[in-house]
Amino acid sequence: MNIFIIYTGGTIGMVQDDTGTFVPFDFELIQRNLPDLSRLNYQLTVHSFNPIIDSSNMSPAIWIEMAQLIRDNYENYDGFVILHGSDTMAFSASILSFLLEGLQKPVVFSGSQLPIGEIRTDARENMMTALEIASAKHNGKAVVQEVCILFDNKLFRGNRSFKYNSAKFEAFRSPNYPVLAEAGIHLKYNFDALVNNSEKEFISHNHLDNRVAVLKLFPGISPSTIQAILNADARSIVMETFGSGNTTTEKWFLDLLSDAIRQGKNILNISQCKVGSVELGRYETSQGLKAIGVLNGYDMTFEAAVTKLMYLQGELADQDAVAYWVEKDLRGELTIND
Ligand code: ASP
Repeated sequence: MNIFIIYTGGTIGMVQDDTGTFVPFDFELIQRNLPDLSRLNYQLTVHSFNPIIDSSNMSPAIWIEMAQLIRDNYENYDGFVILHGSDTMAFSASILSFLLEGLQKPVVFSGSQLPIGEIRTDARENMMTALEIASAKHNGKAVVQEVCILFDNKLFRGNRSFKYNSAKFEAFRSPNYPVLAEAGIHLKYNFDALVNNSEKEFISHNHLDNRVAVLKLFPGISPSTIQAILNADARSIVMETFGSGNTTTEKWFLDLLSDAIRQGKNILNISQCKVGSVELGRYETSQGLKAIGVLNGYDMTFEAAVTKLMYLQGELADQDAVAYWVEKDLRGELTIND
């Protein structure tokens, strides 16, 4: 089995400096603390980023680099493991799911909440399980044919996940989509939930346009704040609304959105709730949005919504084409409920 490991950084490989702050360290540290790696029956190739980073410093340029690394090594490896800080892991897993279309091999993101050198670390479990998943085959084909996140014995679809807890080993959740696999004594795959790309063609995309802005609503938000966000240098705005996609029905608010849409901006409605879906028109408070052309983000995570727009804008110059595709299910990131 040939596994390609991309080491980007994150707590998994960090050490404490003189002042007690966690700072990134090289892959040697991981290898030293994981002597079992050499007992595995796999051929491991490690590509370490230079510099390795805390994932809060992740950027579109690094996402493109990661996608290109996978494309360049795609034929020669059975699976890919990306070691990454947990803070922005869900963004990276989401964008890679869009950049890597028709993936037939596993791309497993993992990391840890405690550095690998700590006695109670979760890094060893996470890394060993990620490697096992990256090498799993069934009838000669990869069991996992998508971008996912392995954390605390659970495998999640990358573009359905978000970091939910910064204090527990259980750092991720994907409440709008079932867990893809669970590791106990056995590794149990949820075959019904996994993507099957066997008939698809693998295409690696390499353009992103990050002109995306975010409008998070709260009762009392002022017209000037909304105006400032709508005027930002952005082709699309992710609007985080209440409940099942609701907003104030005040005329000034709908007029501001309507003007922005007429000027060519896309406004995508996702909910501030972590569970459930936008249902445009279910309440009077979302009917007006539908009428002026606000787009439906259904049950997409914030991470998936932002990165999907960057991906579509990178591929498509036409705003209407972006608007058309953002409401479609491209990589299992949303469930259409109407
Ligand atoms: N700050 C770290 C990072 O995201 C946290 C972690 O690795 O879990 O790089």
